[in-house]
Amino acid sequence: MRIVLLGAPGSGKGTQSQRLMQAEHIPQVSTGDLLRAAVARGTELGRKAKEAMDGGRLVADELVLGLIRERLAEPDARRGFILDGFPRNLAQAQALDRLLATLRQPLDAVVQLEVDYGELVRRISGRRTCADCGRVFNLFTCPEQLSENQLCPRTGAPHRLIQRPDDNEATVTERLRVYDEQTRPLIEFYRARGLLRTINAEGEVDEVTRRLEQALHAMGRPKAAKSVSGPGGKSRSPRRGGARQEAPRRAAKSASSVRRKPAATNRAASKGKPARRAPGRTGTGGRRSARRARR
Ligand code: AMP
Repeated sequence: MRIVLLGAPGSGKGTQSQRLMQAEHIPQVSTGDLLRAAVARGTELGRKAKEAMDGGRLVADELVLGLIRERLAEPDARRGFILDGFPRNLAQAQALDRLLATLRQPLDAVVQLEVDYGELVRRISGRRTCADCGRVFNLFTCPEQLSENQLCPRTGAPHRLIQRPDDNEATVTERLRVYDEQTRPLIEFYRARGLLRTINAEGEVDEVTRRLEQALHAMGRPKAAKSVSGPGGKSRSPRRGGARQEAPRRAAKSASSVRRKPAATNRAASKGKPARRAPGRTGTGGRRSARRARR
């Protein structure tokens, strides 16, 4: 099972990848995590990547592609993988296609996690990560005390929660802009290949996981383990025919959910108001692509 999770920063790619990883026993490959590890180790690659990361911009393609090539060559990726935060632009998506063609391991599915702009900002501001095991918590959905009371599997001590340096307001705005400009075109790229499903990634985490499982199931995958928090069932080999189904219409309509003005939504978020849904893009493109995908 080879999956890409596509979505803006804060859409829950990391959280859902971790759950899917447990259920399917395949690794989560997060370029953000790989880059942060390189920065923390002070490697040459880390030094080169740091400036772009601190500014909320994309790290140079050749650096990221080098990391991905190395990571996908590791033995645990042979049974499959979940790509989280990669690809992030068309050049990376094309390079991934070529790499996977060489490995004779094409993608099975690309799932877009759709979240309203205001909700993204709210989630990012509440996001905390365990400095030791990397598990992601959110203060809004999982109060700090609760997560600190849980034990870190790495250290055996309570999780040590930190806020990522690039989760500050200015950088978040730039990351969302970069997503809209460079990553969003991948929705069309993968839809045209019949690989795309879009799910509503707002609401309870468990509910989003259920939608994700359903989307993968609809792409011809067996249903993931019933409980994503416990060990899951074994995966069978994918049936590719299912990949031609079109994503739900609502999703095609609001692909550009990061276009809202940050200041207004930020204010709403900080007051704890529910975020309003961004006005959707025209659904015509989605229907056209659906016809193309069905051909
Ligand atoms: P993430 O943890 O996925 O939000 O990524 C954090 C930061 O790492 C991003 O804002 C980028 O600066 C960098 N980054 C992560 N993945 C990529 C990628 N595929 N291409 C370029 N830069 C990336």
